[in-house]
Amino acid sequence: MQTTDTRDFEYDVLIIGGGPAGLSAALQLGRSLRSVLICDNGEPRNSSAAESHGYLTRDGIPPEELHQLGREEVVRYGGEFRDTKVTDVSRDTNGFTSTLDSGETVTSRKVVLGTGVKDGLPDTDGFEEFWGKGVHHCPYCHGYEVRGDPLGVVVTDQHMIEYATLIYNLSDDLVVFTDGRDVFDEEARSMFIDRGIEIEDEPIVALTGSDGGLEHIVLADGNEVTRHALFYGPPIRQHSALAERLGLEVNQEGLVETMQSQDGIGFTSVEGLFVAGDAASGSPASIPSAVADGHTVGATVNMELSKEDFDGRWE
Ligand SMILES: Cc1cc2nc3c(=O)[nH]c(=O)nc-3n(C[C@H](O)[C@H](O)[C@H](O)COP(=O)(O)OP(=O)(O)OC[C@H]3O[C@@H](n4cnc5c(N)ncnc54)[C@H](O)[C@@H]3O)c2cc1C
Repeated sequence: MQTTDTRDFEYDVLIIGGGPAGLSAALQLGRSLRSVLICDNGEPRNSSAAESHGYLTRDGIPPEELHQLGREEVVRYGGEFRDTKVTDVSRDTNGFTSTLDSGETVTSRKVVLGTGVKDGLPDTDGFEEFWGKGVHHCPYCHGYEVRGDPLGVVVTDQHMIEYATLIYNLSDDLVVFTDGRDVFDEEARSMFIDRGIEIEDEPIVALTGSDGGLEHIVLADGNEVTRHALFYGPPIRQHSALAERLGLEVNQEGLVETMQSQDGIGFTSVEGLFVAGDAASGSPASIPSAVADGHTVGATVNMELSKEDFDGRWE
């Protein structure tokens, strides 16, 4: 005897966010014959980048093309899409009622948040303009393309020193910018200087360039340092307010705390609600990781639905 009457719900699963994580969860669920609605408001984290790298068989693909291919695969297994924002999610007996931007509501047995994160860029002139073009956060995603170029890396705290060592491997011409912060002790400073890396301590006041390409880092003393790419690891926050509205625990890094069990991953403190991809703790922020996470969360949700359908009797 089923504990949940599936006829009470329009969909088995509502997936909020149609980036790599949400699409991958949808593919897994669609192939398990679960009815899935994916709602996406079209603001993926990497939208400012012309290409995405490092995803095997799709290296160099434009982000929108990857999304389009993903959608086509999901539709093949019955997945439905709505290009809209989900503004609210509430837990009812056994399931969820979610509100779309239009005010319309959708019911589902489970919900997956694949809503991603937003990067907190400094309001320094040019940062926003060159983000994903000349300013990159991830050496694995965009380092190879600028190998050997005059590069910069912003190091504003101790944690970022390790990050700078990753950039060191990409070019012999590297400048570390502390943006006016007191980051380096003598030992750390000489670690860089001894390797021929300049440390620039003046605050950055602007990034300038032409034709969409970064050319100069402008400093408070008026000096302009020529750089073709600048690496910067921004603080992140949840893209969507839904995690907070649902009372989910968001950790110091801005990620939703998720749990795993022998049945899978992506569980949250709200029963039946799962998180996958960049938004979740423990998921390294990249397309391959988001796809892997979505894939496993999709299987986890399918397992939970099956358990409900069989009244949990094999446990
Ligand atoms: C500039 C830049 C370049 C990058 N380049 C690479 C790269 O080359 N290779 C790589 O592996 N990684 C790259 N990344 C990282 C990569 O973009 C992320 O790791 C990946 O997109 C995470 O996938 P996701 O599905 O978790 O989130 P996202 O791709 O951010 O997708 C989340 C989706 O959810 C939607 N959404 C959010 N809230 C709601 C809501 N309430 N209702 C409806 N929809 C909602 C958003 O609009 C978005 O479409 C890059 C990141 C940046 C910032």
